Amino acid sequence: MEERINRIKKQLHSSSYKLTPQREATVRVLLEHEEDHLSAEDVYLLVKEKSPEIGLATVYRTLELLTELKIVDKINFGDGVSRYDLRQEGAAHFHHHLVCMECGAVDEIQEDLLGEVEMDVEKRWNFKIKDHRLTFHGICYRCQGKQEKPSVNHDAVER
Ligand SMILES: [Zn+2]
Ligand SMILES: [Zn+2]
Repeated sequence: MEERINRIKKQLHSSSYKLTPQREATVRVLLEHEEDHLSAEDVYLLVKEKSPEIGLATVYRTLELLTELKIVDKINFGDGVSRYDLRQEGAAHFHHHLVCMECGAVDEIQEDLLGEVEMDVEKRWNFKIKDHRLTFHGICYRCQGKQEKPSVNHDAVER
Protein backbone atom coordinates (compact mmCIF):
# COMPACT_ATOMS: atom_id res chain seq x y z
CA MET A 1 0.00 0.00 0.00
CA GLU A 2 2.60 2.60 1.08
CA GLU A 3 4.85 1.56 -1.77
CA ARG A 4 2.12 2.06 -4.32
CA ILE A 5 1.23 5.42 -2.84
CA ASN A 6 4.89 6.40 -3.16
CA ARG A 7 4.96 5.37 -6.79
CA ILE A 8 1.77 7.32 -7.51
CA LYS A 9 3.38 10.28 -5.71
CA LYS A 10 6.33 10.04 -8.09
CA GLN A 11 4.02 9.85 -11.09
CA LEU A 12 2.35 13.06 -9.93
CA HIS A 13 5.70 14.75 -9.29
CA SER A 14 6.98 13.89 -12.73
CA SER A 15 4.00 15.84 -14.12
CA SER A 16 4.62 18.68 -11.64
CA TYR A 17 1.72 17.84 -9.35
CA LYS A 18 1.86 17.34 -5.62
CA LEU A 19 0.26 14.55 -3.65
CA THR A 20 -1.75 16.83 -1.38
CA PRO A 21 -3.50 15.28 1.67
CA GLN A 22 -6.80 15.52 -0.25
CA ARG A 23 -5.35 13.70 -3.24
CA GLU A 24 -3.74 11.11 -1.01
CA ALA A 25 -7.05 10.40 0.75
CA THR A 26 -8.67 9.79 -2.64
CA VAL A 27 -5.82 7.55 -3.83
CA ARG A 28 -6.05 5.51 -0.62
CA VAL A 29 -9.75 4.86 -1.15
CA LEU A 30 -9.05 3.72 -4.73
CA LEU A 31 -6.31 1.37 -3.52
CA GLU A 32 -8.48 -0.04 -0.73
CA HIS A 33 -11.32 -0.70 -3.17
CA GLU A 34 -9.24 -1.68 -6.13
CA GLU A 35 -11.73 -4.14 -7.60
CA ASP A 36 -14.90 -2.25 -6.82
CA HIS A 37 -15.32 0.07 -9.84
CA LEU A 38 -16.44 3.03 -7.77
CA SER A 39 -18.29 6.05 -9.12
CA ALA A 40 -17.13 9.55 -8.14
CA GLU A 41 -19.94 9.65 -5.60
CA ASP A 42 -18.88 6.28 -4.09
CA VAL A 43 -15.29 7.53 -3.78
CA TYR A 44 -16.48 10.75 -2.19
CA LEU A 45 -18.58 8.93 0.44
CA LEU A 46 -15.63 6.70 1.37
CA VAL A 47 -13.19 9.64 1.50
CA LYS A 48 -15.65 11.53 3.70
CA GLU A 49 -15.68 8.73 6.29
CA LYS A 50 -12.03 9.45 7.08
CA SER A 51 -11.68 13.06 5.97
CA PRO A 52 -15.02 14.83 6.40
CA GLU A 53 -13.47 18.17 5.39
CA ILE A 54 -12.92 17.07 1.78
CA GLY A 55 -15.66 18.10 -0.64
CA LEU A 56 -17.13 16.32 -3.65
CA ALA A 57 -15.66 18.88 -6.06
CA THR A 58 -12.14 18.19 -4.73
CA VAL A 59 -12.59 14.44 -5.05
CA TYR A 60 -13.96 14.93 -8.54
CA ARG A 61 -11.01 17.09 -9.62
CA THR A 62 -8.56 14.57 -8.17
CA LEU A 63 -10.23 11.74 -10.12
CA GLU A 64 -10.03 13.80 -13.32
CA LEU A 65 -6.34 14.50 -12.69
CA LEU A 66 -5.58 10.83 -12.00
CA THR A 67 -7.43 9.92 -15.20
CA GLU A 68 -5.44 12.46 -17.19
CA LEU A 69 -2.18 11.04 -15.81
CA LYS A 70 -3.39 7.51 -16.67
CA ILE A 71 -3.15 6.37 -13.06
CA VAL A 72 -6.83 5.47 -13.20
CA ASP A 73 -9.10 4.65 -16.10
CA LYS A 74 -12.58 6.05 -16.41
CA ILE A 75 -15.05 3.41 -17.53
CA ASN A 76 -18.71 3.22 -18.28
CA PHE A 77 -20.61 -0.05 -18.31
CA GLY A 78 -23.63 1.35 -20.12
CA ASP A 79 -25.59 2.52 -17.06
CA GLY A 80 -24.57 6.14 -17.61
CA VAL A 81 -22.32 6.21 -14.53
CA SER A 82 -18.60 6.87 -14.89
CA ARG A 83 -16.54 4.58 -12.74
CA TYR A 84 -12.90 4.80 -11.79
CA ASP A 85 -10.57 1.88 -12.04
CA LEU A 86 -6.92 1.83 -10.98
CA ARG A 87 -4.68 0.86 -13.83
CA GLN A 88 -2.65 -2.28 -13.15
CA GLU A 89 0.98 -1.25 -12.59
CA GLY A 90 3.14 -1.90 -15.60
CA ALA A 91 0.20 -3.19 -17.64
CA ALA A 92 0.41 -2.28 -21.30
CA HIS A 93 -3.34 -2.64 -21.62
CA PHE A 94 -6.43 -1.99 -19.68
CA HIS A 95 -7.90 -5.17 -18.17
CA HIS A 96 -11.11 -6.69 -19.50
CA HIS A 97 -14.44 -6.77 -17.71
CA LEU A 98 -17.28 -9.27 -17.34
CA VAL A 99 -20.49 -7.45 -16.47
CA CYS A 100 -23.40 -9.54 -15.18
CA MET A 101 -26.78 -8.52 -16.59
CA GLU A 102 -28.61 -10.09 -13.63
CA CYS A 103 -26.83 -8.79 -10.53
CA GLY A 104 -24.57 -6.11 -12.00
CA ALA A 105 -21.39 -7.71 -10.64
CA VAL A 106 -18.21 -6.75 -12.47
CA ASP A 107 -15.42 -9.30 -12.66
CA GLU A 108 -12.01 -8.68 -14.17
CA ILE A 109 -9.79 -10.53 -16.61
CA GLN A 110 -6.22 -9.35 -16.15
CA GLU A 111 -4.85 -11.39 -19.02
CA ASP A 112 -4.72 -9.60 -22.37
CA LEU A 113 -6.84 -11.60 -24.79
CA LEU A 114 -6.62 -9.20 -27.70
CA GLY A 115 -2.98 -9.44 -28.80
CA GLU A 116 -3.72 -11.13 -32.09
CA VAL A 117 -6.81 -9.04 -32.80
CA GLU A 118 -4.73 -5.89 -32.33
CA MET A 119 -2.05 -7.09 -34.72
CA ASP A 120 -4.72 -7.82 -37.31
CA VAL A 121 -6.39 -4.42 -36.88
CA GLU A 122 -3.05 -2.59 -37.05
CA LYS A 123 -2.20 -4.33 -40.28
CA ARG A 124 -5.55 -4.12 -42.05
CA TRP A 125 -6.58 -0.61 -41.03
CA ASN A 126 -3.05 0.76 -40.68
CA PHE A 127 -3.93 1.98 -37.19
CA LYS A 128 -1.40 2.27 -34.38
CA ILE A 129 -3.20 0.88 -31.33
CA LYS A 130 -2.40 2.33 -27.92
CA ASP A 131 -5.05 0.65 -25.83
CA HIS A 132 -8.44 -1.01 -25.93
CA ARG A 133 -11.54 -1.60 -23.83
CA LEU A 134 -13.26 -4.94 -23.74
CA THR A 135 -16.45 -5.57 -21.79
CA PHE A 136 -18.45 -8.79 -21.95
CA HIS A 137 -22.11 -8.66 -20.97
CA GLY A 138 -23.74 -11.86 -19.72
CA ILE A 139 -24.71 -13.94 -16.69
CA CYS A 140 -22.07 -14.48 -13.99
CA TYR A 141 -21.33 -17.89 -12.45
CA ARG A 142 -23.07 -16.86 -9.22
CA CYS A 143 -26.35 -16.04 -11.00
CA GLN A 144 -26.09 -19.16 -13.17
CA GLY A 145 -25.95 -21.18 -9.94
CA LYS A 146 -29.08 -19.48 -8.63
CA GLN A 147 -31.07 -20.25 -11.77
CA GLU A 148 -30.50 -23.98 -11.49
CA LYS A 149 -32.16 -24.29 -8.08
CA PRO A 150 -35.92 -24.94 -8.41
CA SER A 151 -38.09 -22.50 -6.47
CA VAL A 152 -40.34 -23.57 -3.57
CA ASN A 153 -43.51 -22.67 -5.46
CA HIS A 154 -42.47 -24.73 -8.41
CA ASP A 155 -42.11 -27.86 -6.21
CA ALA A 156 -45.60 -27.38 -4.76
CA VAL A 157 -47.22 -27.13 -8.19
CA GLU A 158 -45.52 -30.22 -9.51
CA ARG A 159 -46.83 -32.57 -6.87
ZN1 LIG B 1 -11.74 -3.18 -13.54
ZN1 LIG C 1 -24.66 -12.11 -11.50
